[in-house]
Amino acid sequence: MDFKGKVIVVTGSGRGIGRTIAERFAKAGGTVVISDLDDATVRQVASEIGGGAIGIAANVTSADDVARLLEEASSKLGSVDVVVNNAGITRDTLMIRMDEKDWDMVLDINLKGAFLVTKAASRIMMKQRRGRIVNISSVVGLTGNAGQSNYSASKAGLIGLTKSAAKELASRGVTVNAVAPGYIETEMTKNLPEAVRDDYMTRIALKRPGSPDDVASAVMFFASDEAAYVTGQVLAVDGGLSM
Ligand code: NAD
Repeated sequence: MDFKGKVIVVTGSGRGIGRTIAERFAKAGGTVVISDLDDATVRQVASEIGGGAIGIAANVTSADDVARLLEEASSKLGSVDVVVNNAGITRDTLMIRMDEKDWDMVLDINLKGAFLVTKAASRIMMKQRRGRIVNISSVVGLTGNAGQSNYSASKAGLIGLTKSAAKELASRGVTVNAVAPGYIETEMTKNLPEAVRDDYMTRIALKRPGSPDDVASAVMFFASDEAAYVTGQVLAVDGGLSM
């Protein structure tokens, strides 16, 4: 896939899946905007990725940060063609023990953050009359998961946001789709107890954890010209975990 001349903004791309997505777009000729919480990190990652990549720090829960991120990306690089809503966190515990602040924090970052970024990006994309938005949901947004009521609610909400935004933006040439990863090996999952990991392995049809590259390939498809007639869809990248 060729992303030459395209500007791609990836939230939460300081590490993990987001960083790999950014690297893959850069390898395919795109100019990427690395965005994450820490200024030094985004600059460092952008310089390592190269290909004209720039780093812009932004907290996705702040409407001001998000407005600045999209304005700066568009004014420095000339357009915003693809936005990947990837920033996300977990605060896992059984619902009966879950603090209200852990509910609010997960919903704020994973769902409200994507709303703020989508809203700011759609202003630019509607004017351009083209654009691609890809949201990183999760299979637990489809299936639910004990110990992840906050996280699965945020990821299910993100699927609702994806479909509503797809309907609102379709007439302006903007598509909105979601990728729902299963168990992917990153910092987020590296501290899972061994019993949880073993349980995943028995339930994953392909009998291996996913990699950030597996997720990036699906994101790139949704962002590509080849997916021009695909909108409002959710693609599980989970080795058969959720089927
Ligand atoms: P990660 O923890 O390695 O990376 C997440 C990044 O998001 C971090 O760099 C973090 O600094 C950033 N971030 C956190 N809060 C932010 C905020 N308020 N504003 C901006 N950036 C913020 O996690 P990952 O495994 O790479 O996950 C990336 C995405 O994929 C998340 O949305 C996650 O929910 C989703 N996902 C991951 C898995 C998995 O198994 N790892 C499975 C399904 C979905």
